[in-house]
Amino acid sequence: MLWLRIKYRLRLLLNTVLFNIGFKKKLLKNRYGERILVFHGIDSTGETGYNSRFFSKVYFEKFIEYINKNYNVISLDDYYAKKFKRDTLNIAITFDDGYFNNYKYALPILKKHTTPASFYITTIQAKAKYLWPDFLDLVSFHTKKNNVIFQDNLYSKNKKNEFVFNGVSLKSISKTITYKEIKNLFEIFKDDWQKLKNKSGLEDYWKLISNEKIKEISNHSLFTIGAHGETHMSLINISLDNAKQEILYSKEHLETICEQPILEFAFPFGYYNDDIVKYCEDIGFKKILLCDYNSKQDENNEALKNRFVMNPYISMEQQLAYLLKGTYY
Ligand SMILES: [Zn+2]
Repeated sequence: MLWLRIKYRLRLLLNTVLFNIGFKKKLLKNRYGERILVFHGIDSTGETGYNSRFFSKVYFEKFIEYINKNYNVISLDDYYAKKFKRDTLNIAITFDDGYFNNYKYALPILKKHTTPASFYITTIQAKAKYLWPDFLDLVSFHTKKNNVIFQDNLYSKNKKNEFVFNGVSLKSISKTITYKEIKNLFEIFKDDWQKLKNKSGLEDYWKLISNEKIKEISNHSLFTIGAHGETHMSLINISLDNAKQEILYSKEHLETICEQPILEFAFPFGYYNDDIVKYCEDIGFKKILLCDYNSKQDENNEALKNRFVMNPYISMEQQLAYLLKGTYY
């Protein structure tokens, strides 16, 4: 394990050095191809203490400027139509989850640089004002509780501000249970949430986009809106009927808001199986996005596309090197 970690660090260092001394184009030319990027949130500072998915608006703009200057950034429509350029990296940009911060920070930057993007919205608003992974991140970080009992197990807070029982965190357990069960977690941390939800500056980490803003984005020629489930459950861990409901509700709800067909879907956490893909196709999704393919066979399905998840814990140089490589491994 230790050697692997050292090797990983050395590789990061080498990438940074090569990039900085101008070798990047020569070295990485054979790695050109196509990538769909996944962003989640954008904030003002690039906070990674209680969220692991956000980038600062400064980083984001620098990154957008860089890829526009050096590569071919295209819409997801053009990506699916294979309007690629040779000898460069062809990139489409996506945002998952449906945060208000996408509208607040990312949109002005994307508009300024005429950069297309697609937004996958979780349609949970009728049930909660936040997504459960963000709720858990924020309450776990800020609470004074050291232990909580959930489903008869005692979870203790560790140094990384996660509640853990037998080596398994509340957050990973939450990916395997139903939304009804997750609601018990909201109860456990109810008092903490009361304090947090009014704290200024924190709303960037949980506030979801309003219907009005979703509609505004869907009307803009640079952007498209897609569905991302109703409550951000892992669709492979709930019953198929439940998963179908999650998918259909998010599609229909967004169609009502946007007054146009919603033809794109991104799997929460990237998790999927054959039944779920078939259902998505049956109800009319034309672009179905995941993170990693489950099988070689899935790569041949023209509707399914894998995506490259951006990593806020590494430098931009390292990020670009991995992006060219197409994988973190
Ligand atoms: Zn998501």
